Amino acid sequence: MKSSQQIVRLRKTLLAHYDACGRSLPWRIRPEDRAAGVIADPYKVWLSEIMCQQTTVSAVTPYWHKFLQKWPCVENLACAPRDEVLAAWAGLGYYARARNLHKCAGMIMDEFGGVFPNTEAGLLKLPGVGPYTAAAISSICYGEATNIVDGNVERVISRLRMVQALLPKARTEIRILAGVIADPKRAGDYGQALMDLGSQVCKPKNPKCGMCPWEFACLAGKAGVAEDYPKKIKKQTRPVRYGAVFYLENGGEILLRRRPDKGLLGGMMELPGTEWGAEREAVDKMLAHAPSSHNWQQCAKEVSHVFTHFTLYLNVFVAQGGDVNTGIWASLDRLDTYALPSLMRKAIRSAQSL
Ligand code: SF4
Repeated sequence: MKSSQQIVRLRKTLLAHYDACGRSLPWRIRPEDRAAGVIADPYKVWLSEIMCQQTTVSAVTPYWHKFLQKWPCVENLACAPRDEVLAAWAGLGYYARARNLHKCAGMIMDEFGGVFPNTEAGLLKLPGVGPYTAAAISSICYGEATNIVDGNVERVISRLRMVQALLPKARTEIRILAGVIADPKRAGDYGQALMDLGSQVCKPKNPKCGMCPWEFACLAGKAGVAEDYPKKIKKQTRPVRYGAVFYLENGGEILLRRRPDKGLLGGMMELPGTEWGAEREAVDKMLAHAPSSHNWQQCAKEVSHVFTHFTLYLNVFVAQGGDVNTGIWASLDRLDTYALPSLMRKAIRSAQSL
C-alpha cells in the first residue's frame, strides 16, 4: 500500500473507531453532538486539559465538576481569592498548575477581554499552557489543524512506526511522524481519538492489538514487540529525602504555615517542619526545628510520599499546647478550606492517630 493511501486509511479507521466507541467525558463534545451544532466551551476544555496533565481522568472528574460548580466561568475564577482556588485543588497534586490556572484566568480577563485566544500560537502565551495543551484546546474548540502529542500519542506512534531512537531524544521524530498522519479535516476529533487509542487500547502493558483500528499498519504490533516501544533511556532510581513535621494542637486548632510561592508545593499550607535532606536526622536534631519547646511525641511510622523526582519520608511529632505566635492557627473543623496538599493531610491523619 502506498504511504499516502495508508495515511488516508489510518485517519479513516481511527475516526471510525472513535465515532463508534470513543470515551464520553463530561467535558467532551462527542462527534454526534458536534454534528448537531454543539460547540466546545474553551473554559471547560482548558480546565479539563490543565487538570488532566499527569493526572488520571477518574481523579480529575470530581475536581472538574467542583470547579465548574464554584466558578462557572473564567470571570468567576479570576475573581476568586487564590487561596480558595488552591484549597479547591488540594489533593490533585502538581500545585503549580493551580497557581497558573488562577493567574491565567486573571490574564484572560485583563488582557483578552474575557475571551480565550482562538489559535494555538495565542494559547501558548498563557501561563501553564504548553505545546500539548495549546494544540489540544485549539483543535477541540476551534478546529485548528494542530498536531497533538502527549505521552499516549508518543507510545502509539513509536509502536506504529517502530521508532528506534530513545525517548526523550526521539520526541522530534515522533512529532513529525504524528503530524503527517493528523487529520486536518476533523482536527479536534482526531486528536481526542488518538489520545483515547493510547489510553484505552495501546496501553503501556498488554496493548489490545486485536481491537486496534491501526493493527493493519502497526509494525511493532505485527512483530509482537509492542511492549518494547517506545524505547527509553533507562530511568535512574528515584532518590530519597527525609524530614520532619510538627503537629501542634490547641483548643480545636492546629498550627500551620504557608510554603514560599516558588518551588515544590508553592503557596500551599503545611505543618511547620524541617528542610528535606538526603540523610535521616537524629531525633534531637529534628526537634531543634520544632516551633516550640512542648513535650513532643514521635509517631511510630514515618509518612511517605512519592513526588516525581524523589520519595519523601517524614517523621511526625505531636504535642498539645499554644503560646506560639508564628504561623496560622487553623480550626480542625475547617481544615478542608485550607490548601493542604495530600502529603500534609497524610501527616495530619498520622498525628491524629497517635
Ligand atoms: S496494533 Fe497494538 S501496538 Fe500497534 S497501535 Fe494498535 S494497540 Fe498499539
